[in-house]
Amino acid sequence: MSQSPQNITVLGSTGSIGVSTLDVLARHPDKYRAYALTANTSVDLIVPQIQRHSPRFAVMRDERSAQQLEDRLFALGHKETAVLSGEKGLLRVASDEAVSAVMAAIVGAAGLSPTMAAVTAGKKVLLANKESLVMAGHLFMEAVETSGATLLPIDSEHNAIFQSMPARYQSGKSTGLASEGVRRILLTGSGGPFRELPLAQLPLVTPDQACAHPNWDMGRKISVDSATMMNKGLELIEACWLFNTTADRIDIVIHPQSIIHSMVEYTDGSVLAQLGNPDMRTPIAHALAFPDRIDSGVGSLDIIATARLDFEAPDYQRFPCLRLATEAAAVGGTAMAVLNAANEVAVDAFLAGSIRFTDIPLTIEHVLAAKTIVEPDTLALVQAQDASARVLADRFIETLIRA
Ligand code: NDP
Repeated sequence: MSQSPQNITVLGSTGSIGVSTLDVLARHPDKYRAYALTANTSVDLIVPQIQRHSPRFAVMRDERSAQQLEDRLFALGHKETAVLSGEKGLLRVASDEAVSAVMAAIVGAAGLSPTMAAVTAGKKVLLANKESLVMAGHLFMEAVETSGATLLPIDSEHNAIFQSMPARYQSGKSTGLASEGVRRILLTGSGGPFRELPLAQLPLVTPDQACAHPNWDMGRKISVDSATMMNKGLELIEACWLFNTTADRIDIVIHPQSIIHSMVEYTDGSVLAQLGNPDMRTPIAHALAFPDRIDSGVGSLDIIATARLDFEAPDYQRFPCLRLATEAAAVGGTAMAVLNAANEVAVDAFLAGSIRFTDIPLTIEHVLAAKTIVEPDTLALVQAQDASARVLADRFIETLIRA
């Protein structure tokens, strides 16, 4: 007997992950249906997505954009999709009873509340928005436990680690990594576009150069994070929460080809890795279908053409953001939310051309030093720390601009 397709909410459908998710969904109309699509302001991008997928709901976070979208759909005679707006709309489609799985692919701290709503509603959550786990990991994982939500990682590295774990761990029946004989996790990263750039040139790099990642095609915020290697730092924190482990059991390894997406080493000396072409449709398809496998549209890996796989240790002098993230992970509490907020503000300012690339770690370091770190017991406290860290970061950037 054929089953009706699962309803999927795609939070951040107009972004890089959102577009890849819709590509995978469109390959399997018998299995999945885009139930709700969301964006912030990109009306021009979401209109063709709505025409193609006819979701039940479309949500624009920005109220004016929601009105524009409604007008556009009316003019097109498209009546199948109801338009919602604001955070309320996002929370509704993240937790709607009819929804089976939620792709959490809003960028940055804006993804926290909707992702938490999906978790609290006990959904299958496909987690791309690493920032929500970085900001509120403890509360997030507690909510997963309480609601019985299924959390599957979309970040290619964490998806690779998950795939390299024993079946008992993957099915949620494990008591922890130690009991599974896991010795350590090897978290790989390409090193981004500036791995070999002379250090003296780093202050001069432009936003477009920072966004030109050698292997991955991604949104601009995560591209800059990859160039500073803050992305690897955020991923280190994400891995600690996802796999219930500590940073001293995770080694960061630079692997410029981005073919191995991460590895797990066992106590008997075995190292399991997941390899594949650098295309986010692979982890998206894996998480969507887990424990089954479906076609993602990604071609076979040409291992002969790849020929070489190189590895090196990370350079903490070149990438101070990696050091700052590692230190914030060691401090714990709201240090990670503060780190994340200061980073978001600094990356925005860099992308806007207001500060230099090398001012990003300076801003984060300043804000971390200025904030009192506490143990967050509510989401409201995390959000308050996020807001005040943003104010401090803005003020510091003002002084940089004036200097
Ligand atoms: P993009 O910048 O490409 O897309 C972001 C999406 O979020 C867009 O749909 C955007 O809408 C929406 N959005 C932005 N701001 C808000 C807001 N304030 N409220 C509601 N929605 C908002 O990002 P990516 O797809 O690159 O990344 C998404 C997440 O996935 C990030 O957390 C990133 O770290 C993670 N990730 C991404 C990878 C990649 O390959 N791209 C790999 C691994 C993880 P609009 O278009 O209207 O602005």
